Amino acid sequence: MKNIAKMGRAEAAGIRYVLMDIDDTITRQGKLLASSYTALWKLKEAGFRVIPVTGRPAGWCDCIAREWPVDGVIGENGALAFWEESASPQGTEIAQRLPILKTMYHPDAIKNDHPILARIRERAFAQVPGIRDAKDQFARLFDIALDFAEEEPVLPLSAAEQVKTIALGEGARVKISSIHVNIWMGSYDKLSMTELFLKERFNWQGDLAEMIFVGDSPNDEPMFARFPLACAVANIRRYEGLIKNLPAYVATQECGDGFAEIAQTLLDMN
Ligand SMILES: [Mg+2]
Repeated sequence: MKNIAKMGRAEAAGIRYVLMDIDDTITRQGKLLASSYTALWKLKEAGFRVIPVTGRPAGWCDCIAREWPVDGVIGENGALAFWEESASPQGTEIAQRLPILKTMYHPDAIKNDHPILARIRERAFAQVPGIRDAKDQFARLFDIALDFAEEEPVLPLSAAEQVKTIALGEGARVKISSIHVNIWMGSYDKLSMTELFLKERFNWQGDLAEMIFVGDSPNDEPMFARFPLACAVANIRRYEGLIKNLPAYVATQECGDGFAEIAQTLLDMN
């Protein structure tokens, strides 16, 4: 990984889409930072397409799509995308001018009431001391999230790895974020839904030089592997041993401050 300051002007000038993970990429200890939220606004106002790509649930994505300065959000590790579309500016009624929330679900997404997911959860509870349901589970449609580090007691990464082994053994898909183990049945990930969404929504033609993605942890690896201009915030170093495909660039600062550093680098060169 090269320092983000080493990104070339020609590389930066081609970027149209700024994609980012949420937890520990634009947040720190669960809070969205002023620095990173300001960076989202600056990117949006500079004309970039701003799209968070997260393991967070559908319920959060409704809020993010409506409330944040974004062009859409991909949630539940690629099960869904939510975005707002503006009604016709010619509309005379106020109701016609309000944006409309649009939703897209991955064609392979399977609802999270699947019996295999229930069995994985039971086995994890029996075999991994301290593992528990994520508190945002009620807002999820397609995956189950088991918490190992969002709240106390924080469990070692090895606990998350144990859950992963159980889930893979049952034939599920699984990704470890900085806080949760996400487990689902459909064949999709953050990357496949991102590409689907960009094609459908923005008629993106597949030019990878137009994308920058910023992440922090192993569940971002499909994005790191795909995008030549992928970046990480400095806290990725905690997981270096768990990630085969590291991103090209890394910020000097951690979490949201690292995201703001990357955004500013991009803004300075455009
Ligand atoms: Mg993260």
